[in-house]
Amino acid sequence: MANTTRAPSADPAPDQPSEGYRTLLGLISHEYFHTWNVKRLRPVEFAQHDYGQENYTQLLWFFEGFTSYYDDLLLRRAHLIDDAAYLKLLTKTINQVLQTPGRAVQSVAQASMDAWVKYYRQDENTPNATVSYYTKGSLVALCLDLTLRQEGKTSLDAVMRALWLRCQGGPMTEGDLLAVLQALGGRSFALEIAQWVHGTTDLPLRPLLAAQGVKVLEEPAQLAQRLGLRVTETAGVQIKIVLRGGAAEQAGLAAGDEWLGLEVGPAKSISAWRINKLDDLLLYAANASKVCALVARDKRLLKLPLALPKSITTWRLAARDSQLIGQWLNGS
Ligand SMILES: [Zn+2]
Repeated sequence: MANTTRAPSADPAPDQPSEGYRTLLGLISHEYFHTWNVKRLRPVEFAQHDYGQENYTQLLWFFEGFTSYYDDLLLRRAHLIDDAAYLKLLTKTINQVLQTPGRAVQSVAQASMDAWVKYYRQDENTPNATVSYYTKGSLVALCLDLTLRQEGKTSLDAVMRALWLRCQGGPMTEGDLLAVLQALGGRSFALEIAQWVHGTTDLPLRPLLAAQGVKVLEEPAQLAQRLGLRVTETAGVQIKIVLRGGAAEQAGLAAGDEWLGLEVGPAKSISAWRINKLDDLLLYAANASKVCALVARDKRLLKLPLALPKSITTWRLAARDSQLIGQWLNGS
């Protein structure tokens, strides 16, 4: 019998661009925004570029992160996407950051400073040791915007315009941003910048979104996320990344392992199965709380007891109060 239950369609509404076209629009929007924020407003260290060597700054969380915040937001303001599509894009960014254990290790200011030696030289430990100044930087912008709006004095739009005037569309420092936040927001934002930009505690996304009319729902995570793994599946299941603190790490799985199969069942009737893709695990052990992973590492075959956690979730944002959301997304 054919399976007639269908997953929610990934197709956009008829008047919405396809996912690929939306991604292209987001890229164009991002690069266009750079005309102001990077080409003109730029870190003071980049006042005179030296193209003969690496140029270091702590401010990429602002220049790439805030540009990333505005790239999707401007698609919504241009009515190229609707509120639901915008919240879906934001959901994706939030989940990317929440699924990066390195966010508890590295601040976005450090990530910016380390861009030359870490961001552009990624390896199997990158998600455990680093955080992206693009994605987390965009969430810092979101948190600032929502905080400013909820305190009722100003918005990030006004802060960006004032910053442009203060710096005459040229080199700027973190001190310039703090001064503008103080002037327009009516109080010091030094604590927020210290915690969000120079610290590693999680951003207060949930209360800020809730106060802006956005519901935060939690849904069961995909299998790779539940296990704390990143794999490729083009030639069997190849483990590329083992995330810190996950079930795979606790079982002793390692980047470079080939996951060949699994053993499942009570001691008296163990069955062993070959897997070709990660989701095959669900065929043989969907209801099990633990299995034994059979992996090849170099020339050895290993059996690794592995727990299958069920409680790992991902976020999904949904509209609760479209008027509040509209005030934010329309820029009013
Ligand atoms: Zn950029």
